[in-house]
Amino acid sequence: MAPPFPTDDRNAYLARVGGALEEFLHGDHVDPMTRHDQWRGILERPLPDEGIGGDGVIDELVRTVVPNGARINEPGFWGWITAEPGAVATAASLAATVASPQRYTLTAFNYLEELSLEWLAQLCGLDPGMKGVYSSGGSVANLVALGAARQWALEQHGVDPSADGLGATKTALYTSAEAHHTILRSAGVLGLGRRSVRLIPTDEQQRLDPMALAQVLEEDAAQGVVPVAIVATAGTTNTGAIDPLRECGELAQRYGAWFHVDGAYGLPGILDERVRPLYAGLELADSVIVDPHKWLGAPTGIAATFVRDRSILHRAFTQEPANYLEGSFSDHNDIQSSLDSMGIPYADFGVELSSPARGVVVWSILRELGRQGVMHRVQRDNDFARQLAEEVRGNDHLELLSEPVLSICCFRYRRDGVDDLDALNEQVYRRLLRETPYLPSSTVVNGSFGLRPCFINPRTSREDVDGLAAAVVRLGDESTSF
Ligand SMILES: *Cc1c(COP(=O)(O)O)cnc(C)c1O
Repeated sequence: MAPPFPTDDRNAYLARVGGALEEFLHGDHVDPMTRHDQWRGILERPLPDEGIGGDGVIDELVRTVVPNGARINEPGFWGWITAEPGAVATAASLAATVASPQRYTLTAFNYLEELSLEWLAQLCGLDPGMKGVYSSGGSVANLVALGAARQWALEQHGVDPSADGLGATKTALYTSAEAHHTILRSAGVLGLGRRSVRLIPTDEQQRLDPMALAQVLEEDAAQGVVPVAIVATAGTTNTGAIDPLRECGELAQRYGAWFHVDGAYGLPGILDERVRPLYAGLELADSVIVDPHKWLGAPTGIAATFVRDRSILHRAFTQEPANYLEGSFSDHNDIQSSLDSMGIPYADFGVELSSPARGVVVWSILRELGRQGVMHRVQRDNDFARQLAEEVRGNDHLELLSEPVLSICCFRYRRDGVDDLDALNEQVYRRLLRETPYLPSSTVVNGSFGLRPCFINPRTSREDVDGLAAAVVRLGDESTSF
């Protein structure tokens, strides 16, 4: 019979799981859907009354679960802005899980929380004074930033929204039609309302049109609507477009709105000097977010929100005092034990109390690669998008849908005499996923259905990029052999 408490053979278990991960990453890639019945048949069972014990679980994990994991790790996966985490970052994440199950109290992990936020701000060219807080991803990071915006904007009108709600104040948020949908969700969660988000049209390169923005701001001002925030995207999820940050920031100043920059994906792009000028105006931002779990290769679950002064976050998100927290340790001037202080009160700067220590992971990446290493990664990925764009331009049967700015290149198959190119490309896309190792996402750019590879995958090579273009041409030609 299995023991009533978890077993503690950690080293042996980690070694076995580590071996299975190596095999999974470097072995033959199999789509788990092709053997769905097999693993489902093993895993599907009622709640066990008696456990099987640690060895049995590790067996199932290693034999049945890990080998049927996600295709994200294949060299040709470019569908989402999610990559296989680096080995060092994986080890750091595991270290935090065990050695510091919380980010609080005066530990080395707590120290790295703040140090890594400072490094991340420097890496991404933010004003030195900007202070951060980690959260689980870009969605929550945007929510936290816009919570700060809401607090600040309504305080200008004598309202404390975190204490009293919005009252009768009419508010609006401004962002482009290409902005990430989490901006709308944030508006919903913050009580501003999804309908209060003005989706400003974009130009032919998917950048927010500042003239259109100015017009909408003017109309709203005439109606007495409080402009809560202008949200610009530095690297849109769809095409990697960078909104005109300076114009957006200046309009925010003119109309008394907070200026937020969503750089979840694209902020590290500033390291590539070919595109660095597009980030001019970033210094006007009141808040900025970036996802280390996107381009930096951290395990999923790490984003950072930066603001100029964290006291605004404190006013927006502070928890009510709780005896179970205050009673356990209180901040003294005379600090002798790591439990004499919670450290920086991150719990009051966002929406999480219990939280993993994420700083150690970001620290490990920046310590391993340095600024130079991250820069090379970003440049290499941007190069892949440019390489693909060249191939597309050089082939009569391919058409570019968006000129790469960062590491995304949207394109499609085309051929004279084909009427419904959308339907044809949908067919090509389905076959790509089923029959080839090339896994971009699909998208619509300026009304045209096409393929959207986003290159942040550390395993991708130039040959893989060539392979994608060749596969699309081959599948398209086969479907139109007339
Ligand atoms: C990915 C992304 C988000 C959402 O981030 P998650 O980490 O997936 O929650 C927000 N904004 C932009 C621009 C993104 O690319």
